[in-house]
Amino acid sequence: MSFSTFNLHPDIMAGVTASGYVTPTPIQLQSIPPIMQGRDLIGLAQTGTGKTAAFVLPILHRLRQSQRGRVSALIISPTRELAEQICDTVAALGKHTGLKSVAIYGGVGMDQQLRALRGGVDIVVACPGRLLDHLWQGTLSLSNLEVLVIDEADRMFDMGFLPDIRNILKCILHPRQTLLFSATMPADIRKLVAEVLQDPVTVQIGQTLPATTVSHKLYPVGRHLKTTLLKEILRKTTTGSVLVFTRTKHSAERVAEQLKRAGHRAASLQGNLSQYQRQAALDGFRDGSYKVLVATDVAARGIDILDISHVINYDMPDSTDAYIHRIGRTGRVGKAGEAFTFVTKEDASMINSLERLLNAPLQRCKLDDFDYEKDALPDEGRRPPRRFSRAPASGRRRSGFRQTAGTR
Ligand code: AMP
Repeated sequence: MSFSTFNLHPDIMAGVTASGYVTPTPIQLQSIPPIMQGRDLIGLAQTGTGKTAAFVLPILHRLRQSQRGRVSALIISPTRELAEQICDTVAALGKHTGLKSVAIYGGVGMDQQLRALRGGVDIVVACPGRLLDHLWQGTLSLSNLEVLVIDEADRMFDMGFLPDIRNILKCILHPRQTLLFSATMPADIRKLVAEVLQDPVTVQIGQTLPATTVSHKLYPVGRHLKTTLLKEILRKTTTGSVLVFTRTKHSAERVAEQLKRAGHRAASLQGNLSQYQRQAALDGFRDGSYKVLVATDVAARGIDILDISHVINYDMPDSTDAYIHRIGRTGRVGKAGEAFTFVTKEDASMINSLERLLNAPLQRCKLDDFDYEKDALPDEGRRPPRRFSRAPASGRRRSGFRQTAGTR
């Protein structure tokens, strides 16, 4: 099966070819035809399946015939990084269409976004908070919107964005095509779907399981030895780019610092960074200047880097969904990847849940010559100074807290 079966306009096929796509992925095969017919669609798919192109290609095809310079398609995304990535995909696939797109998110000045909007754009990729700012200030109008995409709906719900999404929907009262993508379908998202989508087609791709190209290993270890173990694993394992997940932004910062001190090319990606620092960390990871990126869940949401060989859960994620999302950063589009998870005594019930999910016992590993009985080193397992300790420990954003995603 090739992309020619979709009958996409030659200008768009040129973008497909230039992006190096040869064979459509399963989500593309199943979603592109109904989207091109104008149907609403629910895409149950995680990142790494090619879902972005699954909605971007039919949008580009449709918008070729629309009046230019007014917002005809809106893609809502939970984080700035994901918004930028989607915008990059739109630019790459739509290179020969002349359609203009812009990413809209908070944490940066309004000026550049205002200039782009005033100049006329066809496709807006936006995080909910800043999008609402523009809508309320009248600097962006959705009155000509033809296609609405709600991407990573479950994660937006997790981050407390559902009220914002509902407010955005109130600004689009006319009929339009609506596409909603989500890795899972919690009850609130099902309710939203029932209210907002008209007779949708549902497409489901490997909804609850990580890619089969990823192998999973558990490393039981005392909490105070996690960083020492991480350093040892990095020293002894042949890796490409490595993405390490911690539960809090403070540990992301601390672990990255400790890795740097041990001579690793490492950076952190977490909410204490400015937008510039976050972009520099991501760019450096993407171009290989940093080999290890230590991130929190929210900061790493939707990171699209194909060559991540290892995902290391320094801290166990707080749900099986979060595990799937993290692991989705490796083993992407058919590549092999490894997922290592450091586990302590407190993680027993999550291990059970993961084994149930994967329907197999997870391999427990011990590193040879590693002293598992060692006492803590001065900088190991150290808690952040008291003045920081009130920061929320989980990556969850409270409902109603309306600022653009990705501050963690
Ligand atoms: P996504 O799930 O949209 O985040 O896509 C994951 C990665 O797969 C991105 O780097 C895409 O550029 C890439 N990709 C998407 N579709 C294809 C395809 N048909 N063939 C090869 N790579 C693809």
